[in-house]
Formats: sequence, structure tokens, C-alpha cells
Amino acid sequence: MAEAVDGAEITGPHRVVVVGAGFGGLKTVRALQDVRVGGKPLAITLIDRQNHHLFQPLLYQVATAALSPADIAEPVRALFTGQDNVTVLMDDIAAVDPAPRTVSGRGGTYPYDTLVLATGAAYSYFGNDTWAAHAPALKTLADARLIRRRILLAFERAEMTADANARAKLMTFAIIGGGPTGVEMAGAIAELARSTLARDFRHIDPAQTRILLLEAAPNVLSGFPAPLQDYTVKALEGLGVMVRLDAMVSDIDRGGITLKDGDRIPAATVIWAAGVRANLPGGLDARTSRSGQIEVAPNLSLPDHPDIFCIGDACHYEQDGTSLPGVAPVAEQQGAHAARVIRARLAGTSPPGPFRYRNAGMLATIGRNKAIADLGKIRFKGWLAWMFWGLVHILFLIGFRNRLMVFWNWTWAWLTYGRGARLILGGSRRDAPDP
Ligand SMILES: Cc1cc2nc3c(=O)[nH]c(=O)nc-3n(C[C@H](O)[C@H](O)[C@H](O)COP(=O)(O)OP(=O)(O)OC[C@H]3O[C@@H](n4cnc5c(N)ncnc54)[C@H](O)[C@@H]3O)c2cc1C
Repeated sequence: MAEAVDGAEITGPHRVVVVGAGFGGLKTVRALQDVRVGGKPLAITLIDRQNHHLFQPLLYQVATAALSPADIAEPVRALFTGQDNVTVLMDDIAAVDPAPRTVSGRGGTYPYDTLVLATGAAYSYFGNDTWAAHAPALKTLADARLIRRRILLAFERAEMTADANARAKLMTFAIIGGGPTGVEMAGAIAELARSTLARDFRHIDPAQTRILLLEAAPNVLSGFPAPLQDYTVKALEGLGVMVRLDAMVSDIDRGGITLKDGDRIPAATVIWAAGVRANLPGGLDARTSRSGQIEVAPNLSLPDHPDIFCIGDACHYEQDGTSLPGVAPVAEQQGAHAARVIRARLAGTSPPGPFRYRNAGMLATIGRNKAIADLGKIRFKGWLAWMFWGLVHILFLIGFRNRLMVFWNWTWAWLTYGRGARLILGGSRRDAPDP
């Protein structure tokens, strides 16, 4: 049986390779896994450099010891156990070669008839890559464990030093970037210090911890309405976080942060939650945005390569004059849309119209009992928004076990102010904060 895809005759099952098992990649595979062409299922290969799908929205809770890594991740292989036509491979794809239609990584070269790039994004230090060593970003479980280690070690070292300046530096935590991740991290460190650790030390008072949230723009949480931004700043200040707006960082080193206005902030723990850039393999001659995302056609394929799709954080897509945000619902809806386009092509039916993102709303949590919700016509904040945020995050976690574990851990933490995952594990001297 031969199928025609963009004029090319192929034999055997149609081979779809999806690179990236994040929100977008998983959605694409799930939408295609039962498609049959000429009676045959598609041969789908899902490749990821990690062996797990990660629920990134709760990473900050692993970094601040509220959850354990396994609570927010699920092995990709386990998600497709009974699906014989889906092959899962753990490989880091370095290049795409559109002429022979292959992608290649350390483990081999994989042929495709249709390719979906869903490789997400990484943090960008705006060209100052040396800052990464002093200000880790939060993107993977390894990052979360490193940040947890640095935060907990800073308190341990502060407890042991007799030098007041060193103690002050160790007990200063600075988060750069006032987006949802920065806000969540700042609130969570404040709660860790002022509630969970408050009575655990004998020589320091964790309640005296200085937590700074630095944002270069005039307000936090760009994209949210001004009243919710203002509420967020007030709620953070209520938790003891010092929010500095219009604060542009000009340097980060072992000793702390220098701001553009010359101000110097000694801080042993600095966390980067600012700009992002797309994660993409080499070999593509595609047009990219300033942050390296591939500019895609309205059907999410590459204009010069109709058999290659790019979705989620790795792609640049403009709707009504603005580029879509790097959030999970965009990646999922794009994954579903790319699957519809592929399915229509294979079936020879008319393709769906251009991709359009349906924004169901935005949420951000600030701390215990405090969050904001912007659902378009309805906006709310405080306790109700916090409950809603928790419900949505539990529902979207992959795997029943994860939902149960997270629900239990949150309930316990809420009742006791405890954080059960306060373990300092592994790491090297380099991963420890400097007094
Ligand atoms: C800390 C944090 C908090 C967030 N909070 C929220 C939130 O509250 N709400 C929200 O909607 N969004 C949130 N986001 C954003 C959201 O997680 C992303 O928009 C979403 O994950 C994008 O999905 P994706 O499929 O494009 O990429 P990802 O989910 O990032 O998946 C990309 C996958 O590709 C793999 N990969 C990358 N390069 C390669 C390669 N070369 N070879 C093989 N595999 C590769 C990666 O290992 C990864 O598994 C948050 C992000 C972070 C980092």
C-alpha cells in the first residue's frame, strides 16, 4: 500500500517522528496514536533527551522542598505501554536533515515522513552565559534539585558562621525575573523561611531572611491586568519579600548582583527566572524570532518544509498582532492542531483552518492561600483563586499516583506548615552557596 504525502510516494506505515515529550509532543502523539491509513496504524517515534515527561508548572515546589521530583514527572515509556505503534526513544536530537528526511542524535539517525518538533525552550541569560554558574535557572528536575540544595545549604552555613556579614549574605535570596516562576519562587522561599524553618535553628532566625524579587519592567506578571499585578506585589510584601521594579541587572558574580543603577546586592543564592530562548536542533534553514523560535505557517508547518511542524515554546506564532505566550495550553492546542493537519493530509480530506489559540485564562500563585486568576471576563484573587489554582494543577498532572501524592503533600503542608522534601542531596562544592 502506498500513501502520498506532499507528492512523495512512500511504502509501509507512515512514519511520524515527534521530538520532545513535553506538553505539545505528548498531545500530538496521543492525537495520532489511533489514526490508521490504509488499515495500518502510523509508526510513531517519540524521542526525548529525558526519560520523563515533566510538569514544569510545579517545578518551583520541588526547588523549595514542598514536593519530591517523582511527584511531578512520569516516565514517557510508561505512558505508551500498551500502544504498540508508538516507540519511545531517549536521545538528544542534534540535527534535522530535511533532504533525506532524518533526525540524528547520539544514539542514531531516525527517518521520518512527517516530523514534529516540540523541543520547548531553555532560559536565556541575554548573552551573559557566565551568569548561569552563579544564578541557576529552573527548567529541569536537575535544576530544581540544585536550587533546593543551594537554598537549604545557605541556611545550614548561616547557622555555622560567626561572621555577621557572611551570615547576612547567606540569608539573602535574590530572584531575577518577576514572571510567574519568579513570583512563585519568591513566595515559596518566604514561606519556607518564615514558617517551615522558623523554629529549626538555634543560632539564626530564618524569619529574618531577606528575599528580593528583581524585575526590570515597571510591574510583575506582565500580561496580567494591573489590579492583579498590584495585588501580587502587596501579597509578596506581606510575606516579607522585597519587590524591586525597574531593577535591571548588569552583573552577577560569586558575591551577588550589581544593578544597572550601580546598586550592589550581596546574595549567596541567586535564581534566574528571566528570558527564554527556543531549544532547537541544528540543520534547519528556517526563519527565527529574536528568541530563536521558528516562525511557522498558519498550519504550524515550516514554510519551506511542509512535512516539518514546530509547536509549543519552540515556535513563534502571531495571533491578532501579538506572539503567543510560552505556556502549556498553547503547546497542547498546537499539538492537537498539528495532528489534525497531519491526519487530514493522510486521509486526503480538506485541512483544518489556520491555528487559533483559545485562551481559557491565566493563573499565578503567590503563596499559602494567595493566588490570582484572570479568566477573561472573570477575575479573582486570594483564597478562592488559590483553591482554583490547586485544583487545576492537580487535574492536569499526568498520572493518578502523582495526583494523589501531590494532593496528600499539599494537604499535609497546609495543615502543618511543613515541607517534607527538605533533603540536601549530591552535588559538588561548586553547587554550594559562598559565604
Ligand atoms: C518553572 C516553570 C514554570 C512554568 N509554569 C507554568 C504555568 O504555571 N502554566 C503554564 O501554562 N505554563 C507554565 N510554564 C511553561 C510551560 O511549562 C511551557 O510553556 C510548556 O512546557 C511548553 O511545552 P512544550 O511541549 O513546547 O515544551 P516542553 O514541555 O518544555 O517539552 C520539551 C521537551 O523536549 C525535550 N527536548 C528538548 N530538546 C531536545 C532535543 N534536542 N532532543 C530530544 N529532546 C529534546 C525536553 O527534554 C522536553 O521534554 C512554566 C515553565 C517553567 C520552566
